[in-house]
Amino acid sequence: MFENLNISKQLKNAIADLGFTKPTPIQEESFSVIRSGKDMVGIAQTGTGKTLAYMLPLLQDLKYSDQLNPRILIMVPTRELVIQLVEQIETYSKYINVRVLGIYGGTNINTQKQAVAQGCDILVATPGRLYDIAVTGVLQLKGVRKLVIDEVDVMLDLGFRRQITNIFDILKERRQNIMFSATMTEEVDTLIDDFFITPTKISIAVSGTPLENIEQKTYLAPNFYTKINLLKHLIADKEEFNKVLVFISGKKLADKLFEEIEEEYGHETCIIHSNKTQNYRIRSIEQFNEGENRILIATDVISRGLDLDKISHVINFDVPHYPENYMHRIGRTGRAEERGQAILFYTEKEEKDKIAIENLMKQEIPEIEFPEDVSFNSQLLPEEKNRIVDVKKPKKKQEERGPAFHEKKLKNQKRNSGSPAFKKKKHKKPKTKGDKKFNRRNKR
Ligand code: AMP
Repeated sequence: MFENLNISKQLKNAIADLGFTKPTPIQEESFSVIRSGKDMVGIAQTGTGKTLAYMLPLLQDLKYSDQLNPRILIMVPTRELVIQLVEQIETYSKYINVRVLGIYGGTNINTQKQAVAQGCDILVATPGRLYDIAVTGVLQLKGVRKLVIDEVDVMLDLGFRRQITNIFDILKERRQNIMFSATMTEEVDTLIDDFFITPTKISIAVSGTPLENIEQKTYLAPNFYTKINLLKHLIADKEEFNKVLVFISGKKLADKLFEEIEEEYGHETCIIHSNKTQNYRIRSIEQFNEGENRILIATDVISRGLDLDKISHVINFDVPHYPENYMHRIGRTGRAEERGQAILFYTEKEEKDKIAIENLMKQEIPEIEFPEDVSFNSQLLPEEKNRIVDVKKPKKKQEERGPAFHEKKLKNQKRNSGSPAFKKKKHKKPKTKGDKKFNRRNKR
């Protein structure tokens, strides 16, 4: 109940006007963290109520002021989001005296400079335009005490890292950082490491996707090329695998995967990742949605927010490094009471990430024996060969990252320990004959 949160009558009334009766999980969990002034990282998708999750505590603590410079800065990747956010904040703050302003690229900068000169309490901006206006001197950012970066994964994927760090440089160091991302990526993690001070991490699984609706299974496969054989084997059953979303980490690997299945399945496969043009992506999605193409290969970030219906199978070609991303991936199937299928391919190297996912879900993913009629391929990708070198000196690599890293990792690992820890059964030795075959071939 919103009644239980310590918020003003004005905010309660605004929320009541919107017809919201109780806070969503991200709203409940973020409220006290944000009010405490600590840095926070929220992993939550659009639709979870994340905007109100950060706006509620921020508005609650924003005192009336007639100073010209903004005290709350919110950065988002696109102009559409700026516009949407300004509208939302205006409805939440309709009974409070708060000035909200949005600035974004692609429109006349002078008009926006004039608006900024009028003064505001909350500034919502895209990073590029924000910086351009700030360097003119019209806008002072030294008064910003609260910084929110929303949809940070999209921002980094669009190549905004430098713009974001440019803004950091002109902000006061003493400020609270709040960040929201739907997916975790290496880049997001690096940004957190570089600029955040021991943030509290709150992770919310995709809403409205009960795991019970999704049948999950996993296959152990030794390498990329053997996974290709397995994928080809599975999707050969066109009736069963009638709408397949294949997830893979990274644009380069996505292209490689497409290349490998192109000869047999190119005519019914499309691909999306952020290096493809907007038109290409739109076309891919249309072709997939309309059933013209049965298979869609996608990377994690780009697949966000896609409105895809009736997916028969989500195939995780690799194990996402961040367990939340697995939840986001499989949440694309099993929607609206439909039953969905999720399949995970993992190598021995990826096993630890698979276990992290199982711990997050508090359930083990049933393992299916590697099909006997799928052949192994001993060919390795360059990165798979490199990993062998890595394995010889993992200790050194960890030590290089310093004590803060370990502290953070430990802390993050504990974040789902609210309920009794899920203990994974001792992992079975791979029982696939194929593995032995593969090993023998490798020895030759
Ligand atoms: P967001 O995840 O912030 O994009 O919000 C998704 C949608 O949920 C928006 O249309 C909000 O207006 C709505 N919403 C936010 N909080 C609540 C709530 N506590 N109860 C019902 N709807 C909400």
